[in-house]
Amino acid sequence: MAHNPLETRWQAVQARIRAAEANSGRTAGSVRLLAVGKRQPLASIEFLYQLGQRAFGENYLQEAEARMAALANREIEWHFIGAVQTNKTRQIARQFDWVQGVDRLRVAERLSTQRGEEHPTPLNVCLQVNISGEDSKAGVAPAALPELALTVAALPNLRLRGLMAIPAPAARGEDARAAFDAMAGLFSALRSMGLELDCLSMGMSADLESAIAAGSTMVRVGTDLFGPRPPTSVPHGTAKIAP
Ligand SMILES: *Cc1c(COP(=O)(O)O)cnc(C)c1O
Repeated sequence: MAHNPLETRWQAVQARIRAAEANSGRTAGSVRLLAVGKRQPLASIEFLYQLGQRAFGENYLQEAEARMAALANREIEWHFIGAVQTNKTRQIARQFDWVQGVDRLRVAERLSTQRGEEHPTPLNVCLQVNISGEDSKAGVAPAALPELALTVAALPNLRLRGLMAIPAPAARGEDARAAFDAMAGLFSALRSMGLELDCLSMGMSADLESAIAAGSTMVRVGTDLFGPRPPTSVPHGTAKIAP
């Protein structure tokens, strides 16, 4: 019965998701877990894969590329979840299955064009919404969302799947509920406009329960799955263990 701590944490996170689904009357299995392994060792990603985890979220392109190369023959669904810089769109469009974090048309247009050069299948996209209204934060303003969503949905090599949000740190935990409810409202408004969206990506380690209660279909979990992240001073991709 001596479980690897990573296996124990993975099971605990799954249990939290299933409990949150049940508590809020959601269908069992309607919320997916995206494992966010930034700065975690490759061995941990591989271990979670062996347990059955298939969707992994990556913030750093270089780190992601090293992992994709090392795990090339696995059936992994790779999600890019960081801010997308214009000069990185080609590599992202080529190598990822999903991009969560598109917040402007120029990036979406580049991703669509560059995806088309390489792949017969469209790139799945979630638009990032600036739900907490902070100037410094990434994400499209809610007022500008409908127009961006309609335009992105019409791009040939992208498939608009839904919305993603990271509420401001001050609004995390139970207080994040208002932000999550606002996201659910935006999501349903876009669906009423005829957009076939099926992904509402919100909720992290600290607040996945309230995100699920509000209607999240994908929670992105790092810390509570992998344990504390090694510090930023460790170069990406080379981190083995926290000093
Ligand atoms: C790091 C990160 C997460 C995971 O955060 P935890 O609090 O460690 O669970 C989720 N989403 C994004 C966009 C992230 O950058």
